[in-house]
Amino acid sequence: MKAYDAVVIGGGPAGVTAALYLARSGCSVLMPERLTSGGQLLQTEALENYPGFPKGIKGYELADLFAAHLDGLAVDRPATVVESITGSAGRFTVRTSDGEHTCKTVLVCSGAKHRQLGLEDEDRLRGKGVSYCALCDGNFYRNQTVAVVGGGNAAMEESLYLTKIVGKLHLIHRRDSFRGLKVYEDRLESMPDKVNIIRSSTITKLHGEDFLTGLTVKNLLSGQEELLPVDGLFVYVGFAPVTDFLPQGIVLDEQGFIVTDTEMRTSIPGIFAAGDIRSKLCRQVITAAGDGATAAQAAFVFLEQLHA
Ligand SMILES: Cc1cc2nc3c(=O)[nH]c(=O)nc-3n(C[C@H](O)[C@H](O)[C@H](O)COP(=O)(O)OP(=O)(O)OC[C@H]3O[C@@H](n4cnc5c(N)ncnc54)[C@H](O)[C@@H]3O)c2cc1C
Repeated sequence: MKAYDAVVIGGGPAGVTAALYLARSGCSVLMPERLTSGGQLLQTEALENYPGFPKGIKGYELADLFAAHLDGLAVDRPATVVESITGSAGRFTVRTSDGEHTCKTVLVCSGAKHRQLGLEDEDRLRGKGVSYCALCDGNFYRNQTVAVVGGGNAAMEESLYLTKIVGKLHLIHRRDSFRGLKVYEDRLESMPDKVNIIRSSTITKLHGEDFLTGLTVKNLLSGQEELLPVDGLFVYVGFAPVTDFLPQGIVLDEQGFIVTDTEMRTSIPGIFAAGDIRSKLCRQVITAAGDGATAAQAAFVFLEQLHA
């Protein structure tokens, strides 16, 4: 067991920023990360809205730059999964799949993961035609026909990415208008030969034995259903918070995101939260990084008060 000033859970944009600020303030930091540092950046083809990169930047390139910023600082970065947090302010125990660590403060930066459609055969066909990551799996569908379901920025950004690979793309959205940026919608509408936008419709059934072969799509206005043959389906219907390891009693909103004040304090003294895991309006890289900086500063003040 090793003792740290702070444990920052998750190596996405919020976690890396929090670890950076804390380490530069002289704190010892453990930043356990379940996968590789970068979080959802590693599922993003390119970002066009991160300031300082007017020509855009690939998701993995920005992830590498974020991680490189920690080089040489007092941040231990094991590849491990946090399983629980126990204890109270000033002496927490964070249990990971590799063992336990104590710390004075915890910063939860565990982000969000995709939501599923909730259809009967979704789990069975996952990885067999049903995917949640265009960047990871898009290349399997070169020149084939795919559908994307969703109406936000992620669905539209990933559709644009897929248009460079697939032969035909159906974008299915349950509403008449999209929630994402108009610029993305305009770009998708400008390629009617490749992109078929199906509005006011939902998927009611997935077809296929060993591999997805098609979808039943229901028009919500007419109630009519049709079979849409596809080779692949990419699901972007929102994100759910990653909170399975949190202690009992931490206050969450109705969707399960952690409620904080403006200084990223949670309802449990000594535990802070930053990034997509937090209950808030805008979930982007820049807001995650901003939250991470604020949480680190608030945690630093908390540590100073502990020592006073
Ligand atoms: C397809 C897609 C496209 C996007 N496009 C853009 C865009 O163009 N511009 C933009 O600004 N934003 C974009 N976003 C959103 C942006 O990526 C997120 O808002 C941002 O990554 C949130 O950062 P975060 O650090 O809060 O969480 P995450 O990036 O989700 O990182 C959380 C990290 O915590 C780790 N973790 C979780 N649980 C545990 C555990 N128990 N133990 C250890 N580690 C754990 C995860 O593995 C993950 O690495 C996009 C997201 C997606 C999915």
